[in-house]
Amino acid sequence: MSKNLIIAIDGPAGSGKSTSAKLVAQKLGFLYIDTGAMYRAITYLAIRSNYLGDEDKIIELTKNSDIKLDFINGLTYVKVNDEDLTDKIRTPEVNKNVSNISRIEGVRKILVKIQRQLGKTEKGIVMEGRDIATVVFTNADVKIFLTAFIDKRAIRRAKEYAENGKPIPVSEVKTSLQKRDIIDSNRKVSPLKQAEDAIVVDTSHVKIEDQVNMILEEVKKAASKRNIEIVIN
Ligand code: C5P
Repeated sequence: MSKNLIIAIDGPAGSGKSTSAKLVAQKLGFLYIDTGAMYRAITYLAIRSNYLGDEDKIIELTKNSDIKLDFINGLTYVKVNDEDLTDKIRTPEVNKNVSNISRIEGVRKILVKIQRQLGKTEKGIVMEGRDIATVVFTNADVKIFLTAFIDKRAIRRAKEYAENGKPIPVSEVKTSLQKRDIIDSNRKVSPLKQAEDAIVVDTSHVKIEDQVNMILEEVKKAASKRNIEIVIN
């Protein structure tokens, strides 16, 4: 068992995962890891190198990628081999291809290994993704699975794009999310699904502060069970 607390948050895109995971990590002073950013970075590089469809080349590319994540002022910065890819990984093109990259077993093996390594931090960790509770940290202290109606998720994502100055119609966002959901949930390796022991929350009608408080309550319980002191800011 790890010495620190591990909080796993899984769910589909737009379920409120990132927003609540970031806030929980900030309030606890824990390390925050957005594993989707890793799959996105590899996808961007595979597109740039014209490797789409060639699994061996994509696995080789992943092996040769030294991925570093930094979380500063609410934003995840991604560097691969010292190249900053932060602005390049959240584009419609990456959205379209990422699920076909993340279903490659060899890619997942490499990234899961890095994710487990990150879990060895002295601080606690909040890690979000699709398979954190089911594969990466099956012993996580807190396992949360967030869901929401597809329309709600599409509206949330479209709002984020608009706020970032890159508006995309809700209907387009919805189709793209649905396509990703289908591939992510049906792939052979580590599909998106809730762990049997996860707490499932439908966030369609839940305010973000309530989601965060609910997760913090679970963290408090887990901390007291393990006799680990936590400070909530
Ligand atoms: O979380 P985000 O939407 O940025 O994730 C992008 C994609 O990365 C997902 O649609 C999924 O295909 C993949 N992913 C994954 N496993 C994770 C995190 C993300 O397969 N743990």
